[in-house]
Amino acid sequence: MASNSVQFASDNYSGICPEALEYMLRANSDDVPAYGDDPWTQRAADQFRELFEIDCEVFFVFNGTAANSLSLASLCQSYHSVICHELAHIETDECGGPEFFSNGSKLLVAHGEHGKLNPMAAEQLITKRTDIHYPKPKVLSLTQATEVGTVYQFEELLALRELADKYKLKIHMDGARFANAIASTQLSPAKLTWKAGVDVLCFCGTKNGMGIGEAILFFDRALADDFSYRCKQAGQLASKMRFIAAPWLGLLETGAWLRNAEHANRMAAHLEEQLQALPAIQLLFPREVNSVFVQLPERAIAQLHASLP
Ligand SMILES: *Cc1c(COP(=O)(O)O)cnc(C)c1O
Repeated sequence: MASNSVQFASDNYSGICPEALEYMLRANSDDVPAYGDDPWTQRAADQFRELFEIDCEVFFVFNGTAANSLSLASLCQSYHSVICHELAHIETDECGGPEFFSNGSKLLVAHGEHGKLNPMAAEQLITKRTDIHYPKPKVLSLTQATEVGTVYQFEELLALRELADKYKLKIHMDGARFANAIASTQLSPAKLTWKAGVDVLCFCGTKNGMGIGEAILFFDRALADDFSYRCKQAGQLASKMRFIAAPWLGLLETGAWLRNAEHANRMAAHLEEQLQALPAIQLLFPREVNSVFVQLPERAIAQLHASLP
């Protein structure tokens, strides 16, 4: 992509990758039925089933806040609670969307090193109260890769699944950077989700090279009952669904989803390496995917801002 300006602030500053764009253009050449009853949507959903090696339910929505909020709402009654890390996007960056769409399910936040939900801290929250006055814990929500650029390893996911089983909880995964976690662990998408006990995955297309669009995968199909009504009511049913589905197909069919993630991880590793050579800079978290968090001297921050066009 020709570009005069490269920004490192976030992965959603980038444009659309050629594969996603190419499939979007192909999907533009014919008229097809609306609201997802089209061959592009069918093929994209089937590609997800093939990639994840399971006959899951697949839905497409516009963005991550909707994907997280609506999928959590489908796992909870209004009197339930969702256990998540204190830095979780659903807690800090979704404007109360999960609570709103679930009619009040409460988020309970736990500590944990390197942005990961710690099983012991989570258990403390779950067992803190068992009386009727406390919102009943129902879901563990994990972000993979995490908000600070670390990755839950398979064994860590299993430990959380064990905890979830003990208290009959569902597991929701915010996969804003799921592809980057796959590239980092080199595990199969199946292994890093349903084989580790994840019930629902929100797989982000926007941060992987699309212009718009997320996929929601319900590995436990029963949890997806009436989900399409939820999407419609929330204003998340795209009438020209093919323009979300076709770019997804482009990413999946060509393997660009993984190539893009590998490239992003490699570039972040490069940035990390260069930054580490500078004595005044401190790395805040282990870099495992495509995010690098550093402590910069105030002067350096001011100079960097001043150098922007
Ligand atoms: C970007 C992101 C999302 C999705 O954000 P939207 O702006 O709603 O698309 C969700 N979770 C995490 C961790 C993210 O970084």
